Amino acid sequence: MGDETRSALHIQPGCTAAKRAAGRRAGTMQRPALSPERLIEGIRLGDRTLLAKAITLVESSRPDDQKAAERVFRDCPPTTGNTIRVGITGAPGVGKSSLIEALGSYLIIQRSEKVAVLAIDPSSQLSGGSILGDKTRMPFLSSSEMAFIRPSPSRGMHGGLSQHTREAIRLCEAAGYRNVIVETVGVGQSDSSVRAMVDFVMLVTIPGAGDELQGMKRGVMEMANLVVVNKADGDNLHAAERARVGAESALRFLRTSASGWVPRAISCSAHAGRGISDIWSSVLDFVDLATENRWLERMRRDQTRHALYEELEQGLMQMFRADSVVQQRMTELERQVIAGQATTTSATLELLNLFAARVDSGQGKLTMS
Ligand code: GDP
Repeated sequence: MGDETRSALHIQPGCTAAKRAAGRRAGTMQRPALSPERLIEGIRLGDRTLLAKAITLVESSRPDDQKAAERVFRDCPPTTGNTIRVGITGAPGVGKSSLIEALGSYLIIQRSEKVAVLAIDPSSQLSGGSILGDKTRMPFLSSSEMAFIRPSPSRGMHGGLSQHTREAIRLCEAAGYRNVIVETVGVGQSDSSVRAMVDFVMLVTIPGAGDELQGMKRGVMEMANLVVVNKADGDNLHAAERARVGAESALRFLRTSASGWVPRAISCSAHAGRGISDIWSSVLDFVDLATENRWLERMRRDQTRHALYEELEQGLMQMFRADSVVQQRMTELERQVIAGQATTTSATLELLNLFAARVDSGQGKLTMS
């Protein structure tokens, strides 16, 4: 496989070859030295350090790392399937991390269940670092053996969730984490990306954001299974209740989900620990319903299928764009289409035929080995 094709398959704009090389020189993106067998064994034993290394491996864009990652992914222990994947989204400052700390503590202390937190921060593409999943904001979880926290700089799709988040979820589950929480800032497309990889979405808001909630994009409300009004404490108690009622009536105007679930609104205080068990009861009610009517099973299957097609489309586009002959013709046809000298349909057909011919003659490099 040529270098051109290799780079065509690295669908990670945030991590170019030059950046990777610079990262290696600076020692920030070192190649994991552990064998896939060792990582698989570590995951089987629930070793958090090895789990983190396995996730680093699946996030890597180096071709040989990708091969090793494929092994780890394929051969890591199967999961029982009774895992729960929860997405938590909301504007910065609404208390997502505090809520995750409270929910995680509840799961560990009250239910003796392990919890993994994957925090994906869309802004880290600009800053190069990750502001979510900052362990200082989750002191109990950071020190608990039953928790795994993974702040991930986002790369790739939709300026939000990386395509590897799905694989990271699977690795956490294989390592025995029954509950996986994916935290993301409710900005742009990261919301719909999180919807595509979890079972249940919580939208976190705060009192005083009522107007905002009314005007909130329908899509954001539509994908929420639960609206959580946080900071229902102190002087905020009444305002929080008003916001909860407002959210509930806003939810009533949305069409019912095909899962049969009727979205709820709950107020809580992450600080005071109020409402936390109610939140988790809602998650469990949803899981019961969606397991019973087999919605969960179907949704997970559809999500995986969708991910495959999405990656396939990206890969095809990358390969298409990487072909210099196609590129040249594309520039010319683009000019003709804009000038009204060709239709988009004829230009598309010509480009696709040209690309197919390049592939046929072996010059389009379609191999992925
Ligand atoms: P995130 O940016 O959404 O993850 O929000 P954080 O969890 O970092 O919280 C933002 C701010 O809100 C911090 O100053 C928290 O101490 C505060 N906060 C979070 N939860 C609560 C709560 O339940 N009650 C009150 N009063 N403040 C909270």
